[in-house]
Amino acid sequence: MFFHRKELMVPVEVRKPDPVFAQFLLQQFGGATGELTAGLQYWIQSFHCPKPGIRDLLQDIAVEEFGHLEVVGKLIEEHTRGIEKTVPELEHSPIFAIRGRGPHLIDDAGVSWTAAYINEGGDVVRDLRADIAAEAGARETYEVLLERAIDPGTKKVLHYLLTREVAHTKMFMKALESLGKLTEPLFGNIKPDETVKVYYHLSTNGAAQRGPWNQEPEFTYVADPAKMIEHGELAGVGGKH
Ligand code: MN
Ligand code: MN
Repeated sequence: MFFHRKELMVPVEVRKPDPVFAQFLLQQFGGATGELTAGLQYWIQSFHCPKPGIRDLLQDIAVEEFGHLEVVGKLIEEHTRGIEKTVPELEHSPIFAIRGRGPHLIDDAGVSWTAAYINEGGDVVRDLRADIAAEAGARETYEVLLERAIDPGTKKVLHYLLTREVAHTKMFMKALESLGKLTEPLFGNIKPDETVKVYYHLSTNGAAQRGPWNQEPEFTYVADPAKMIEHGELAGVGGKH
C-alpha cells in the first residue's frame, strides 16, 4: 500500500531557471542511472528476496528512491519554469522547447526510459551486486551534475541526493557482507572448475602489468597463453609459465 505525502524529502528552491541544466537533470529522472531505475529495480527485487531483513532493506530504499524521483522531478519543473514564453536559453534545450515544461520520462539525450535498464533476477547476491553498481552510476551522475550546477539551491539538493546514494551503497555492501558474499565471488550451487584460478595474459604488446588481481596465491599467471593453445592446454590446469 502506498500513501503520498505532499511534501518533498528535501526542500527544492531554484532561484534562476536554467532549461539547459534541466536537460542534464533528465538523466536522473528518465535515464539509465536515474531514480526511477533504482526505485523499480530494488522494489521488484524485493518480491523474490528470500531473506526478510534484506527484503525490507530493498523496499525501504526503493521507496526512498521514489522520493528522490519526486525531488528530481521538482528540480526539473522549477528549472523549466516560464518555458511557455520564448526564452533564448530554450534554443539550447530543444527537448523542453518542443515538449514544454518538464519533467518527461526521457534521459538528457531524449531517449525514452526502458525497463531494460533494470538489473534483477534469480539470486539475492546477484541482485545486491547489481544494486551497488546502480548506486555507483547514480553517484557518478550526481557528481557530474554538481560540477555543472550554478544555482545554490540546486547544488544543495544534488549534494543531498549524492550523499544518500553513498549511504545506500554502504547498506547494500553490509547486506552482502551479512551473507558472507562481499569479498566472495562464488554463490549458487555449482562449483567452478580448476580454471577459476587462472589469469590469462592475453595482450601481446607492452609490459605485462602485475597486481593482486593476477598474482599468487589467489591466481596462476599464464604469461603466454598462445603457447598453451599449441599444446592443447588452454582450458587445462596448472597454468605453467
Ligand atoms: Mn536516489
Ligand atoms: Mn540510491
